[in-house]
Amino acid sequence: EIGIEGEADAVETLKTRAPVVTIMGHVDHGKTSLLDALRGTSVVSGESGGITQHIGAYQVTTKKGDVITFLDTPGHEAFSEMRARGANVTDIVILVVAADDGLMPQTIEAINHTKAAGVPMIVAINKVDKPDANPQKVRERLLSEEIVVEDMGGDVQDVEVSALKKTGLDELIEKILLQAELMELTANPDRAAEGNVIEAQLDRGRGAVATVLVRKGTLKVGDTFVIGAESGKVRALINDKGQQVKSAGPSTPVEILGLSGVPMAGDQMTVVENEARAREVAAYRQEQITRKRTASVPTNFENMFSALSTKVIEYPVVIRGDVQGSVEAIVSALNRISTDEIKVRILSSGVGAITESDVTLASASRAPLIGFNVRPNAKARPLAIREKISLRYYDVIYDLLEEVRNEMAGQLAPERIETIVGRAEVLQVFPAGKKDKAAGLLVMEGIIRKGLNARLTRDDVIVSKTVIHSLRRFKDDVSEVRAGMECGAVLQDTNDIKAGDTLELFEVEERVRTL
Ligand code: GDP
Repeated sequence: EIGIEGEADAVETLKTRAPVVTIMGHVDHGKTSLLDALRGTSVVSGESGGITQHIGAYQVTTKKGDVITFLDTPGHEAFSEMRARGANVTDIVILVVAADDGLMPQTIEAINHTKAAGVPMIVAINKVDKPDANPQKVRERLLSEEIVVEDMGGDVQDVEVSALKKTGLDELIEKILLQAELMELTANPDRAAEGNVIEAQLDRGRGAVATVLVRKGTLKVGDTFVIGAESGKVRALINDKGQQVKSAGPSTPVEILGLSGVPMAGDQMTVVENEARAREVAAYRQEQITRKRTASVPTNFENMFSALSTKVIEYPVVIRGDVQGSVEAIVSALNRISTDEIKVRILSSGVGAITESDVTLASASRAPLIGFNVRPNAKARPLAIREKISLRYYDVIYDLLEEVRNEMAGQLAPERIETIVGRAEVLQVFPAGKKDKAAGLLVMEGIIRKGLNARLTRDDVIVSKTVIHSLRRFKDDVSEVRAGMECGAVLQDTNDIKAGDTLELFEVEERVRTL
C-alpha cells in the first residue's frame, strides 16, 4: 500500500486554524439568508467594492482579526455526502430553526446527521423579528431531541438572530469562535498541502475548476497534486473574493485551475513531489475506486479498527417502519442487545417510506438501513443503489433482531480459548541457527506435539513464548512425544532459555462470539 495521506504532524508544528462551519436546517428557515448576512459581517471583502465570488465556501474576518470559514452549500445532504466520501471537513454545525415555525422534519434530520457525525452544534433561532416568533418554544421542543441549550441548563450554545434585520450576528460569530477555541483546532501550515474538494465543475472558458478546502499544509501555485483519481499542476489559485493568490493555508477555500478532469465533491487533494508520483497515486486511487465499486456490502471500517482496542464498539443503524408501535418495539429491542463491548447506536428512526436523508445518513456512517414493512421512496431508491448502502427489509421483528445480533457478534474479536495439553522440563540447551534454540526435554505431563504453542516459565514466571518447530526422538523426526519420555525440540524465536525451565504447551482455539 502507498502511504499517501494522513500521516500525523508533530505537535510543535501545529498552529491554530479557522473553524469550518456548515449551516443546516429546514427549508425556508433562512439558511441562505443567514449565510449571506454572515458574509456581510466580514471586514475584509473583495476588491472593486466587495464583489464576491461564489466558490462553494467563504471566509469571514472579524474586527479582531479572527477568521471563520463557511461552507456555502447548506443542508445535511451535502454534509453527509461529503462524509460518505471520507471528507469530514465540518468542525461546527449551525442549526437554523425559524422561531415562527419551530422544529420541522428537516430540522430533525439535520440534528440526526450532525449527531451521527459527532460534530458540535450551535442553534441559531432565526426570524426573531417576526411577530409570531417564539424562541422559547424552540428551546423547549429541542429537549425532546435531546438537545439541551444553555438557557435550559445544557451545554449547546444557542443564539437568537434575524438574518433579515441582521441582528444577533456578532453574538453568533462570538459563539462560533468560543466553540472553536474549546475544540483547539490546529494544523501544520508548513508542509505539502492536503484538502478536500468542496465543489467542482467544467467551466466553458477555464476548463475543469474545483474549489478545495485546504485541511493542512499550504497549497501554492505550481504545486503538483492529485485530486481523487485526477492529477495536475496548480496553474492559478483564486480566493473567495475573486482574487488571484499565490498560496492558501489550512481552512482556506480556494479555487484551483489546472485540473485534468472534474473531480467530485469530497475527493481528497494531496500535493506530491513530482508528476511521476502524482500518476502513481492517481493510479492507486483509481484501483481503490474500482475495488470499492465491486464490493457489495460496505464494511464498517471504523469498527474494524476499534475492535482492536478495548473501546466500546458501536453498531450504527438507521430504522424506518410502517407504524410507530413497531418502530418503538424495534428500537427498544435493539437497545437491549447492546453489551459492554458493543452497542447499537440508532442514528435515526422514523415512520414512513425510506427517504433520501435516511440513505445519506446510512451511507455517511456506513450503517445498515433497516426497513420494517416499508420501502424507499422514488428519490431514495436510486440513491440507495448509487451509494451502495446495505439496505435490508424485514416483516418479522424476530428475523431483524437475529440478523443484527449475528452481525454484531461478527464484529467482536473472536474469543480465544486456551487449553494446556502438556508440560515438559528443559534438560539441556543447544544453539540452533540465529534465532532458534534446540533443547533436550523431558515430558512430565500430557503430550508435546510439533506446531504447538509453548510458554517458557522459570520459577513460575513466564519468560517467553515460542512454538515447537520440530521434534526428535533419538535420530528420528517425530510428530508427538508422550509423558515420561525424553526428546529434542527446536524452539522458534527463543533466546532466553535455560536448563531447569519449564515448557507449558497449549492449544488455542478461536471461537466466534454470540450475543
Ligand atoms: P433556506 O431555504 O433555509 O435557505 O431559507 P432562505 O434563506 O431562502 O429564506 C427563506 C425565506 O425566509 C425568505 O423569504 C427570506 O427572506 C425569509 N427570511 C430569512 N431569514 C429571515 C429573518 O430573519 N426574518 C424574516 N422575517 N424573514 C427571513
